[in-house]
Order: sequence, then structure tokens, then C-alpha cells
Amino acid sequence: MSDVLDEFIERARAISFADAVDRLAIPVPARGRPEYEGPCPRCGGRDRFAVNRKKAVWVCRGCGAGGKDGIGLAAHVLHYEVRSRTGFLGACSAVLKEPVPQEGEHESDEQRAERQRRIAEAQAQAERNRQAQDAQGNIHREREINKARGMWLKASTERGRDMVTAYLQARTGFVVPPDIFDNIRFIADCGYYEGEDEGGRPLAIYSGPVMIAPIVDPSDTVIGCHQTWIDLSNARGKSRPVLWGVTKKGREARRSFLSDAGRRRPPTPLDVEAGLYTLLPTKKMRGSKKGGLIPILGDPDANRWLGGEGIENVMAVAGAEGFRKDTFYFSAGDIGNLAGPADPDSAFPHPTLKKQIANGQWRRVSVPGPKPKEGQNPAEALQVRAHVRQLLLVADGDSEPLWTASAMARAQARLARADLDIQILWPPEGTDFSGAISAAIAVQGR
Ligand SMILES: [Zn+2]
Repeated sequence: MSDVLDEFIERARAISFADAVDRLAIPVPARGRPEYEGPCPRCGGRDRFAVNRKKAVWVCRGCGAGGKDGIGLAAHVLHYEVRSRTGFLGACSAVLKEPVPQEGEHESDEQRAERQRRIAEAQAQAERNRQAQDAQGNIHREREINKARGMWLKASTERGRDMVTAYLQARTGFVVPPDIFDNIRFIADCGYYEGEDEGGRPLAIYSGPVMIAPIVDPSDTVIGCHQTWIDLSNARGKSRPVLWGVTKKGREARRSFLSDAGRRRPPTPLDVEAGLYTLLPTKKMRGSKKGGLIPILGDPDANRWLGGEGIENVMAVAGAEGFRKDTFYFSAGDIGNLAGPADPDSAFPHPTLKKQIANGQWRRVSVPGPKPKEGQNPAEALQVRAHVRQLLLVADGDSEPLWTASAMARAQARLARADLDIQILWPPEGTDFSGAISAAIAVQGR
């Protein structure tokens, strides 16, 4: 073998795995994932082919192939037969990004055409798989939206008014005007599903009265619904039921929601302490929410809009300003839909908060930054209509302050336009408006 060829192979072997991965244009891992997963360039599939840059290893679960060097990976991706001299040199050439030296064995034109045909075929198959998967996802999403829409449409507009009014009064201190029932409906006995039973079916762990609100998109189409389970007897727990879920650790320890007799039972304090159970949210959103909003009270044609993350906080502020007739009150459902996605480069480390990562070390929590992600499409977060001139956004004071401040700044930046006045309303430190205002009313009433 010539020196030129020896040197060519040595240089190819010296290319680090991560560099080879980049040169082969393997996509970077999805956000928060340690490795890239995708269809195999040879046998297709969806996520059977994985490349881990940090651990310097690749694998295909379909082909049963894998390895720790860039040349092997190049041969796999580019359909070279690595055991043949021609294929091996071809793979070296791919990681070096330079042609095989003259002295080396070159593939014939027919071999090259055949190899390129195999690559194109595998890519076409992967594309067909992706489209089929998208279509399946669309069908699933459509079905979920229809279910959520049906849930709101079928809910009662008459029954439950007393309970919803009492719930919102308990949370905000105000008796809401009856116009709220243009939007808010009620289900007397609504199942709460969590986890699966032994047959893999969704498991109903609770059933009780629900306040149900529509989620509408900018064209006023109902795309989802928002459920709040109510338990007026639990005045200290925000007038909502206490629902315990079993954590992963709890499942491993064979804990269950139900006793052997099939009755719901609260966990022992010891089990809670041990992290076997966790409190479940008593609000849920179904169908789609992105880009939509929850209309609560008033006419969306109003020039003044006032909204926030949750229905209760918005109603507390609405009550404090006398449920203004010139205002449309709305909720975003959650802070993500209000703030919208952040520009990844604007994230910053929290000055004090830390979390433990997999290897046991502590790392500062990264806070999504105040700058909105560029090139957002309207379906990614709540939209404010063009005729609106004044927008008041209610901040949630009982969440982590810095995180909330960054999210509210992002919402403001995202929705900013020359003819819209945007103001953020901050509650007293450490509380939220529903708590602060209802407490103030209780003091006045004494
Ligand atoms: Zn494969």
C-alpha cells in the first residue's frame, strides 16, 4: 500500500466522532434530548437510528448495526460496504471530505449509481413514513378537538350556575355577572382520568362537578375546552378537590389510587414524604389551546382587553374594576400560551434556584428569556385582534417571580405594536390577585 493511501486512512481515523457526525450532516438532537433519533438511512423506520455525539456511539436497532467510529457511521449512512476496500476508502473520503487518492481503489460508475439509488430510495421511504405519521397525528388531533368541542357544547348552560358563582366568589371575592354564562358551562359529574388500568384504558380516578370554558381560535371557532373541578367543601384548598396521583417511584413500589376494595383513598403522609404520590392539577385543557384563548366575559369586539393566565385572577381584577362593560375579559389557559416561545439565546441562569441533574451535581435553573422566538406563527401562542387598543395583562404572583417576570416581558414584546398600549398588572409580592383581592374584601367586610 502506498504511503499516500496510508496517510489518507490515518487522517480519516483521526477525525473525531463528533466531527464526523457533523460532516455527515446528521441532525442535532431535539431540544433536551441527549442524542439524535430518526429513521435509519438504510432500513427506515421512525426513530430506530440513534447517534450520540457526546458518548461517541451510533446504533440502528433495525439493522442491528452500530459502532463507535466515524468511518463506520459514514459507511452506514452512505451505503458503503465497509468490508470491501472500495467501500472502506469511500467512507474515509466522506469523513475527510476529500476524494480517495488516485492510488486507491475507486468504485465504478455502476457501483456509485447503484449506491446512490439505494440512498435515494431510503430517503424517499423515510419521507413517506413521515407523511403517514403526520397524517395520523392530524387525525388524532382533529379527533381530540372534536371531543373537547363536544364536551363544552353538551355541557349545561343552566344547571350549576349557583355552584360556579359560589366557586368564583370564594376565589375572587366577587359575585360574577350572569353574562359569564354565555361562555362558562357546567358538568355535574365529570370524570377525571389519570394513568391507565391493567387493560391499558384511561383510568377514571375521580368524578365531580366541573366548570367548563371554551378555548377559541382567532376566527372564534371552538378548538378546545378548559375544565376546573370544583369542591366547595375544600375552602382552604382553593375550593377544588384534592387529587393524588401515583409517581413513577410509587408505581415501582406498587402503590395505587385505589384500595383493594376499589375505593379512592388518600396516601399516608409517609408515602407522600417518600415521593410515592404527587398532587394532581385540578384544571385540565383538552383539544387544542395554542394560539387560542378562553373568553370569559364581555365582547371580543371591545377595544380594551384584560387577560391573564387563569380565569380566577382575571375575574378578581375584573371585579375590582367593576366588571367594565367596555372590556373583554379572557384567560390564556397557561403562561406558555400567554408568553409564547422564547428565543433560545435569551435564556439566562437563575441567580439562586438550582436543580439536581442526572449525575447528582447541582446546576442553576435556566429561565426562558424575555425575547420572543423569531418567526413565530400565530398558532404558537395567544393572539390579540387588530382592533384592540388597550391590553392589560394580569401577572400571576404565586409563581416563581423571576420566571414570571421574564414570561410577562416576553408576552409584552411578542404582542407589541404601535397602536396597542400594553400594561402588566402585578399583584402584591408573593400572592396572586384572586388571593390578594378576596383577602382585602374579607378584611373590609369585618
Ligand atoms: Zn437500520
